[in-house]
Amino acid sequence: MLLNIKNLHVSINNKEIIKGLNFSVNSGEVHAIMGPNGTGKSTLAAAITGRQGYEITEGEIIYKGEVINDWEPDKRANEGIFLSFQYPIEIPGVSMTNFMRTAVNAKREYLGLPPMPAGEFLKKMEEKKRLVEIHSKLTNRSVNEGFSGGEKKKNEIFQMAMLEPELAILDETDSGLDIDALKVVAKGVNQLRSDKNAFIVITHYQRLLDYIEPDFVHVMYNGRIVKSGGKGLALELEENGYDWIKEQFED
Ligand code: ADP
Ligand code: MG
Repeated sequence: MLLNIKNLHVSINNKEIIKGLNFSVNSGEVHAIMGPNGTGKSTLAAAITGRQGYEITEGEIIYKGEVINDWEPDKRANEGIFLSFQYPIEIPGVSMTNFMRTAVNAKREYLGLPPMPAGEFLKKMEEKKRLVEIHSKLTNRSVNEGFSGGEKKKNEIFQMAMLEPELAILDETDSGLDIDALKVVAKGVNQLRSDKNAFIVITHYQRLLDYIEPDFVHVMYNGRIVKSGGKGLALELEENGYDWIKEQFED
């Protein structure tokens, strides 16, 4: 099992947000996590990636067989966990190429490998650029500076392609993505998914799942996964909304 979350409780500022969540992911799987706003989806993503301020008060996050509750975010990233930024940062003066070179080599250093030779790095850049259909126009510019929403998303998917994570978590913005950005994300996931990695796709809307076919769909409500199923569950949610979930699991 790649990821196994047992009875997870997470607090922010002493307020419990995740309230006993169980969830597991195998390599080769794509999981969608859906649910109304404010139910703890982004908090779950933050807890898995080890973001500061998210306190695990009970339970375990087990990744590749190890309890990672106390791992620093950097270590988690180096061990293959990737989180798409819900709100991507801009880095003026740093080109995407240089940003990626630093990121790729930081990971290699952690793994005890020498920096990637320049030729190999550029070849990898070209290969991944083709894969996610990103233009050199974008990779030569400063990271995210003046990028449109769709371009930022594309950039992020490109970063993911370059870093080749074993566990990728994609958290959709609360306002949702426009249709072009949605397609970029979906295409990226579909190109990159393999039996060696897994994706957790967090989305408020069913629409993304028109383009990405998840193996499992989970509904999160009030800090727990209250329902799991196949992709049919997403269709059911699209038809009926979340009210029936709310009624059933209101506490
Ligand atoms: P979702 O991603 O499902 O919309 P979130 O994980 O962002 O939900 O938020 C879950 C709950 O945690 C919400 O009630 C939200 O107000 C609260 N919350 C999120 N971030 C913070 C924070 N930094 N401080 C206090 N409460 C927060
Ligand atoms: Mg969220």
